[in-house]
Amino acid sequence: MPKQENGQREDSLIQNDLSEPFEEEVRAFLGDEEKLHLFDDLTKVNPVTTRTVLKCLQARYRVNLFYTNAGCSLVALNPFQPFSCLYSPELMREYHVALCPQDLKPHIFAVAEQTYRNVQKQMDPVNQSIIVSGESGAGKTWTSRCLMKFYASVAASVISPKGNETVERIEKRVLDSNPVMEAFGNACTLRNNNSSRFGKYIQLQLDRFHHLTGASIQTFLLEKTRVAYQAPNERNFHIFYQITKGATAEERLEWNLPEGAEYRWLPNSERNLDEDCFEVTRGAMFHLGIGPATQSNIFKVLSGLLHLGNVQFSNPVDESQPCELEDKTKEFVKTTGDLLQIPTEELLESLRIRTITAGKQQHVFKKPCSRAECETRRDCLAKVIYARLFEWLVLVINENIYTDPSVWTSFIGLLDVYGFEAFPENNLEQLCINYANEKLQQHFVAHYLKAQQEEYAAEGLQWSFINYQDNQNCLDLIEGNPLSIFSLLNEECRLNRASNTDLFQTRIEKALSSNQCLSRDKFSKKPNFIISHYAGKVCYQLAAMVEKNKDAVPPELLHVLQNSKDPLLQKLFPVTVKNQNSTKTQNRAAVVTVVSKFKSSLEHLMEILSRTTPHYIRCIKPNADCKAMTFRREEVLSQLQACGIVEAITISAAGFPVRIPFQSFTERYELLRKSWGSSKKRVWGKSSSHPAEKKGETAAMGDGKAPRAAVLEILQDAAREQTPAR
Ligand code: ADP
Ligand code: MG
Repeated sequence: MPKQENGQREDSLIQNDLSEPFEEEVRAFLGDEEKLHLFDDLTKVNPVTTRTVLKCLQARYRVNLFYTNAGCSLVALNPFQPFSCLYSPELMREYHVALCPQDLKPHIFAVAEQTYRNVQKQMDPVNQSIIVSGESGAGKTWTSRCLMKFYASVAASVISPKGNETVERIEKRVLDSNPVMEAFGNACTLRNNNSSRFGKYIQLQLDRFHHLTGASIQTFLLEKTRVAYQAPNERNFHIFYQITKGATAEERLEWNLPEGAEYRWLPNSERNLDEDCFEVTRGAMFHLGIGPATQSNIFKVLSGLLHLGNVQFSNPVDESQPCELEDKTKEFVKTTGDLLQIPTEELLESLRIRTITAGKQQHVFKKPCSRAECETRRDCLAKVIYARLFEWLVLVINENIYTDPSVWTSFIGLLDVYGFEAFPENNLEQLCINYANEKLQQHFVAHYLKAQQEEYAAEGLQWSFINYQDNQNCLDLIEGNPLSIFSLLNEECRLNRASNTDLFQTRIEKALSSNQCLSRDKFSKKPNFIISHYAGKVCYQLAAMVEKNKDAVPPELLHVLQNSKDPLLQKLFPVTVKNQNSTKTQNRAAVVTVVSKFKSSLEHLMEILSRTTPHYIRCIKPNADCKAMTFRREEVLSQLQACGIVEAITISAAGFPVRIPFQSFTERYELLRKSWGSSKKRVWGKSSSHPAEKKGETAAMGDGKAPRAAVLEILQDAAREQTPAR
């Protein structure tokens, strides 16, 4: 989470002094059991301020009440300690059979059950989404996993798969996608031992009986650089450790992984984590249709990457010659070649020699790469193999869990994407991640903070507008047309000129200076730009940003991969007519940049989300050290502020908690209508001509009044009539 910078956020910190009296108030809260439960919903806290909300959350946290409703969202505090009774099958059932799950203690199962009931009630829109957000280590993946288990249990299909007992039930297969995706896509970072290094949207598909019939997974932006670079005290993806720790003696021979061997790309392997369990990954892969032979092929290729990481180059004495290799390195190149089934000489040439085609005659020149270039190529080879392997795995998993659209009629989507990131150094990856968070925040704002207040105004209810932070300006800066950071980055890639970051910085400032969300760290010697995100300011370094956006793979590397004899690599790198025409492909490929790909997949996701009824779970990390049962006010506060939760609670608290679509309302209270006098009938009669009713939207009926106000009036009248006279 970004540190709070100058400006309104810091002000609110000052206003909300969190020192001593605060502790006393929390204790006072704790002494009052009834109050603690009364504040199951933060909208009941009075007055709603950051301070009262924080106090309430801290008091609840101390007595193991980790979930609290906050209007339309559920706040989930991470206990960093297992509480198995909180996620037991018995508890799932309790929420599932409850008359009104929202009347039970706040819980992710209450959200899950409500969502499921919305599907059954054919809510409009019938498809639902649960958006799980929060910073790294806050508990998003844990929550998503629990939600999936909930649906696998309560929405289990009654029929076994095609009557074939050897095929795992669909619920099991859907759940098995988790350990596989986590083994290949998660890693131990400074902030979370099991940090997801990709975003995930899973659609759980339900048939007309509301049974789980299948699922589909969409992933976003895998952090592939981790294969070849791990920050100090961090690790590579879990799967590499699983292989090296869990392979049998026979497999060690086959994959050339002798016990105790050291690999540069496998740091901190002495740290043993629960996530290092190879058997679980293998079992899950098997259930997902990835048999032992394919598995072995995958692990052989990954072992090849570990050997590739040990390849080191040194400067040649004569610059016209290729970089030199130590004896040991020659061995690593050979083993890599053997494991990837690429002839050693060809592999070495692709790493050390660049082919240049020049002139009208298309003369081909060969030029030795510098040491730095060789290293970039080595890393690039590993990254492209790993990224394509991950993509292919998702494809295979989808094939094994997906059902034909004719079978399913509705879906519940679960979104688990990385939270805001602000490191001392930020680059393209953080820009994309933070852009995704801006988009999600805008969805929340548009869907809740803005839409609800606009609806009140449209329905003529008395309402004083509550201010919220609109982030459109920031989104315009990042992705807007015609000029934005993304468009300028893409332009640099398209022009394919030698990158000059100082010039690029000037270009950005000139083009976008009118946007107040843009500034620069003037004290830094490195070219940069600062974006004022809704969650705080983040400084992005321009060095290598354009190159990262191009994400180009040298054609020589693609060529050796396409010519590999390895069956898996042949699948990952098929030879197509397009590939053969290398120069044309290169130019075209340069246009499909990382940001344009990311933007379009995110737009596709937002389009899906906008057609669903959203539910929000805001995961909060109570302390950065992941310590059990430790609540640090300042850290929680900055997360609450960053997601606009206090504004949401204020609007919910002041607003109308029950929203019934006009159609449902009339159906449900039809009986009451009969008991009303003739004057009431007139009101109803008039209502049918109300435009909102015709549209079939959330509305009510009225005597020419705005719809919701009229509904309230009728309900009050009805209540008065039904109250016996004293
Ligand atoms: P995120 O996906 O937000 O980065 P995770 O879901 O991976 O975070 O959670 C980080 C760690 O916190 C988990 O590995 C787990 O140890 C712990 N954790 C998260 N939620 C819970 C919970 N509800 N109960 C117990 N431990 C939890
Ligand atoms: Mg995660």
